Amino acid sequence: MTFRFYLPTQVFFGEGVLNEYGDFLGRLGRRALVVTGRQSAVTSGALADFEVLAKRLGLSLVVFNEVPVNPTLETVAKAVDLARQERVDLVIGIGGGSPLDTAKAVALLVPNRAVAARLYEADLPEPPLPLVAVPTTAGTGSEVTQHAVFTLPAKEIKKGFSDDRCFPLAAWVDPRYTYSLPLAVTIDTALDTLTHAIEGYLSRRSTPLSDTLAVEAVRLFAGQKEALLAGSILPATRRDLMYASTLGGMVIAQTRTTILHTLGYPLTYSHDIPHGRANGYLLAAYLEFIQPAEPVKVNNLLEALGMASLEDVQGLIRQLLPPLGKFPERELERMADLAATNTSSLAWTARQATPEDLLNMLRRSLG
Ligand code: ZN
Repeated sequence: MTFRFYLPTQVFFGEGVLNEYGDFLGRLGRRALVVTGRQSAVTSGALADFEVLAKRLGLSLVVFNEVPVNPTLETVAKAVDLARQERVDLVIGIGGGSPLDTAKAVALLVPNRAVAARLYEADLPEPPLPLVAVPTTAGTGSEVTQHAVFTLPAKEIKKGFSDDRCFPLAAWVDPRYTYSLPLAVTIDTALDTLTHAIEGYLSRRSTPLSDTLAVEAVRLFAGQKEALLAGSILPATRRDLMYASTLGGMVIAQTRTTILHTLGYPLTYSHDIPHGRANGYLLAAYLEFIQPAEPVKVNNLLEALGMASLEDVQGLIRQLLPPLGKFPERELERMADLAATNTSSLAWTARQATPEDLLNMLRRSLG
């Protein structure tokens, strides 16, 4: 047995963790760009914690709070301009996946004197600025990955890039920063975590170690599904969902995501369905498709979920998410065609999917 497991991010986890383990930040720079969304850094309480820490460490903060829900390269370019203008030597991403992904791109582009459009090119030789991450949702796990995803309006797609140099040097993962999230966001992001764990577990790139983390993340989600259904989200639930999210990130840092995520992107891009929710709608059909290729693993997942069958998975999604109207067949075909162009995602999916298979998964979920 041989495998590679690479995860260079120092993870600090727990309630109040920035106060306890914040000193590491002082070693990384003197002037930091905080990359965040319009509200998350403030409402989560994370920015206030950073301000206290920065004062103590003698660090100055410049805040860029213009990252939208689905950022484009235009957003990245704006943040890069501010970083250059303010001569920052450190980037702090605070937020859900979008600000964290934007922070990664900014950290890489600034020392390379590159424009945002060059993000997807390989020739960015300079190492990124030191980068740290603080999640304010329990979903993406972006704080422990080398991946970032942006919307490309010209091509009407979401496109990811991955660079091992873009792993954050440190992640402060504090469940308290998710306490103020509305229930719908909590559910959507928890489903993102669940699909990271499940797709990673069923990916052709999975390893014994990533599988261990994936099953644990699924188990943690399962332990909180009653709380999600009841809408009673206590701190213990927040903690488990946050921990699961970071584990899910560690999984996809090894495996990346597969066809479920690829099928979900146009739901977000063209139909404004939040990322994790889009994945949730597709989950049961995806598992049904994979089952013949990986019967034992799908069974293990059902066991970790505390469920007897894939119908139970579909039942849980129906209870958790709002009902979805039927999509016209022509739109399903367009989305399947789009997914069929993502050859790497198809290659890592445990079962070879034909264009017809992709369309069928969409029909089962959305038709
Ligand atoms: Zn995701």
